[in-house]
Amino acid sequence: MIYPRKMAEYDDDPQNDSRFLRLAQAILRGEPYEELEFGVSKMLNFVLARDGSDTWITPSIIRIRFVGRPTIHPYIVDAAPGVVWDLMGRMGLDRIVEPTVGVARVARGRLRHWPGSARTDMIGWVIPEVDAIVIYTRPVTGELCTTGPIPAEGPWMLPAPRPPWDPPPRKSSRPEHVALPEPLACPHCGAPSTTYRKLTDGFFVCPACSRSFEPGR
Ligand SMILES: [Zn+2]
Repeated sequence: MIYPRKMAEYDDDPQNDSRFLRLAQAILRGEPYEELEFGVSKMLNFVLARDGSDTWITPSIIRIRFVGRPTIHPYIVDAAPGVVWDLMGRMGLDRIVEPTVGVARVARGRLRHWPGSARTDMIGWVIPEVDAIVIYTRPVTGELCTTGPIPAEGPWMLPAPRPPWDPPPRKSSRPEHVALPEPLACPHCGAPSTTYRKLTDGFFVCPACSRSFEPGR
């Protein structure tokens, strides 16, 4: 039995070995498994987020992004076996050896319920790969799919492209400048200007004294 390390976000660690991915892959092939500690439920709660998520389990890290949000979150890979094991239970499957879609039912969940997490059935897509496991979840919106291979088209096709995913667009590091129709006096030094550098928080930077202030206050 393997106990997960502390469930903390951490950066991709090349020193991390791939045993957790290999264990998760063995579970997908139908090998028996013992339940892990409660902390894995937290990661599962992310995978089964209310609006769904896209999860990419690699040898060294789990990457997850929540539907509707561009950020890709890194998580410790130790949770992978428990997440896969619970998801297979929810989907009513003893093994997943090919890309599979099915209904992940709350009533069939295996891990303990994470406090405050949603208790709703989801559609789950699981793709076993040689060096990764890809999981998508989406809320059930009416019709339920039949458990089976992921079709190439139709409502049960993959809901998002396979990873690796592009990182979210970075905010431009180039300073933004604003041109004002009338001069605005700096509240610090009183110097009027029609052009200000604008910071990401909306503050203006005075070209005379370099101090920042919130315009309109
Ligand atoms: Zn100033």
